[in-house]
Amino acid sequence: MSLHESKKQQLLNWLQAKGVRDDCPACGATGRHPGDIVAPPTTPDGGGTVVGGPNFPLVQLICQNCGYVMHFATTSIQMPT
Ligand SMILES: [Zn+2]
Repeated sequence: MSLHESKKQQLLNWLQAKGVRDDCPACGATGRHPGDIVAPPTTPDGGGTVVGGPNFPLVQLICQNCGYVMHFATTSIQMPT
């Protein structure tokens, strides 16, 4: 699901309020941009997976230098999906 511009700003404000570091954990560069809202493809359930089971929507944050993708739970950001 594509992220609306107002939601992108909400994410960036939330990251700043929480003190999330601006440097990429993979390459160390600064500069990132919000991606889309995604859901994990599978949900672990013991030794197997549950298709269609509970999932936790995530919002992407993508490094502009190397493309490393971080994910944050939309529930923590209070971002409706
Ligand atoms: Zn990077």
